[in-house]
Amino acid sequence: MKLNIHPSQTPTPLALRDERVANPGFGKYFTDHMVIAKWSGDTGWSDGDLQAYGPLVLDPATLVFHYAQEIFEGMKAYRWSDGSVALFRPYENAKRFNKGATRMALPEIPEDFFVNSVEQLVSQDKAWVPHKSGEALYIRPFMFASEVAIGVRPSNEAIYCLIATPVGAYFDPKKPVTVWISTEYVRAAPGGTGEVKCGGNYAASLMAQKAAAAQGCDQVVWLDAIEKKWIEEMGGMNLFFVKGDKERGATIFTPKLTGTLLPGITRDSILTVAKDLGYQVEEGMISVDQWREGVASGEISEVFACGTAAVISIVGGVKSENGGWINGDGQSAPIAMQIREHLLGIQHGSVEDKHGWIVKVD
Ligand SMILES: *Cc1c(COP(=O)(O)O)cnc(C)c1O
Repeated sequence: MKLNIHPSQTPTPLALRDERVANPGFGKYFTDHMVIAKWSGDTGWSDGDLQAYGPLVLDPATLVFHYAQEIFEGMKAYRWSDGSVALFRPYENAKRFNKGATRMALPEIPEDFFVNSVEQLVSQDKAWVPHKSGEALYIRPFMFASEVAIGVRPSNEAIYCLIATPVGAYFDPKKPVTVWISTEYVRAAPGGTGEVKCGGNYAASLMAQKAAAAQGCDQVVWLDAIEKKWIEEMGGMNLFFVKGDKERGATIFTPKLTGTLLPGITRDSILTVAKDLGYQVEEGMISVDQWREGVASGEISEVFACGTAAVISIVGGVKSENGGWINGDGQSAPIAMQIREHLLGIQHGSVEDKHGWIVKVD
């Protein structure tokens, strides 16, 4: 499966591009190119095209519009101080994309094609990678059912597409988020699609996010679907709890992957980095009561969420139907910030990449 390169004939004027890269916002501007590749059940994948960014024209009866057979990924390209650009663990995104494809009855795409398409797009649109630490080029691969049909069955055609957008910090890392523990809505149930990145999970989460906002909270915390007791995730991010502190020795705890959590690549990287920094790490179950009591007794000193978009953000206040509490002092989280700086350091090339996570683009 090859990728044919067709540079845009009408790229963004350079001054406008540089202005956008300097003040990117989050997902406001898209780069000059995109990748597209088509699959059919009869002939498999055709070669892909890297071409000018632009609209897709689709028949109204295209399956994805009706039955949401769709997956996506989120990854970043990081600018290093020497001007070069790096990807972080892109093969992990490729593997997770293919697991999602299988779960959603979509075709797998060759991992090497996936990573090559990302490298080629980033290389073509390298000038769109922002320069400040904490900023990056956000890359969005996705795949959807493109057959024109109304019957409910796996699509016999699919489109893989890749776009990119320069982004600043998703949240201000120094401003802790407040969370609403949702007992009304559920994100994922056993046997469902909680461990894959499909758009439907997000569509079903929007009302819970609205409910959280109505409670004055920034984000929703998801509980398990059955007992509505065990902590799973925060919005589209994985959660971590710091037990103990630097003086006493700290354990970095995160809910284990039960099949209803999304296996975050940031989560996995933090488990490794925390060990490198001398902390104990633990995966297990934590209930709402254990969270509240752990904070009250001082055992839990910090809570933070993690994901590619925001890296790490501190969870300050918690609200639920049964009242709320503040994690630690609600403001500072020294261990979370230490891990954040270390991870950002690896991504931006200022900390040694001991685990072979970096793929340079050129
Ligand atoms: C994408 C995502 C995450 C974070 O995954 P990363 O690979 O770390 O970006 C966590 N939870 C959900 C629900 C997600 O969709």
